[in-house]
Amino acid sequence: MSLRCCLRFVVAVMVASLGGSALAATPLKALIIDGQNNHGAWPKTTVMMKSYLEQTGLFSVDVARTKFTVNGGDLVAKYPLPSIESTAVKSAQTDPDFKPPFSKYDVVISNFGHGAAPWPQETQDAFVKYVKGGGGLVIIHAADNSFGDWPEYNEMIGLGGWGGRNETSGPYVYLDDDGKLVRDESKGGGGHHGSQHPFAIVVRDPSHPITKGMPREWMHAKDELYDKLRGPAANMEILATAYASPEFGGTGRHEPMLMTIRYGEGRIFHTPMGHADYSQECVGFIVSLQRGTEWAATGKVTQEIPQDFPKADVESARKFD
Ligand code: ZN
Repeated sequence: MSLRCCLRFVVAVMVASLGGSALAATPLKALIIDGQNNHGAWPKTTVMMKSYLEQTGLFSVDVARTKFTVNGGDLVAKYPLPSIESTAVKSAQTDPDFKPPFSKYDVVISNFGHGAAPWPQETQDAFVKYVKGGGGLVIIHAADNSFGDWPEYNEMIGLGGWGGRNETSGPYVYLDDDGKLVRDESKGGGGHHGSQHPFAIVVRDPSHPITKGMPREWMHAKDELYDKLRGPAANMEILATAYASPEFGGTGRHEPMLMTIRYGEGRIFHTPMGHADYSQECVGFIVSLQRGTEWAATGKVTQEIPQDFPKADVESARKFD
């Protein structure tokens, strides 16, 4: 028996002995989409998120990439995905060949960003049909900057920033110091952040499957704290917030950090966290991604909160090389 064959046998026995709960016999099918993002780290963060999801044993993860733009160094070559065939272009432009088979997947994770060119109309239509029909969607950080002019997309993400967003996009949505939801219709651009720093995440709904078992407050690693996000925010629930301290240039409001949105039959998990590779090494980010993606795919979360989860005043990171 070869080593590979032997390992496969051991895994099969493990799956059988665990009743398939930890290592699902039929994994959920996840698709990360990327290629056009103002954040130069995107080729690495895609590989990081793929790894984080696969570590759960729940997901098989594919990646679909547009003709891409390279920002600040060729991380695409440093973090290759052998199954991906794509080409670099000088500036973001609509890629007529970007037609991922969304309907084959349980959940789609967007690692797009600011300045992404519109998808072909056919792809936009297929995406709306997929989510409306019950598909899962996960929005990470600058994915909420994309496609400011696409109404259905703005409904899916609930809140967004930049991309031409303003009072016509919907209200600013945040919590005040009493924990009361504010929908602020005042005029102004959507999307802002102060200087990067570690900040506390405050769980507002500890009964939701995604947040259940998390400490009521946990320290997130250095990141951009998005504030002034605005959008339709329909069928949206805020699971956790962070205080955007004026000390770091923030609004002085409690800004949404973990959100769920319902769009048709679809479930969306949205976190504006995850600016850089060091932000995504935070165990709180990793676990939120893993749990949020499972929830978006199935409506349930079967994963435990790990021992190394951050605490109220203690950060926790897993170095990713
Ligand atoms: Zn950023």
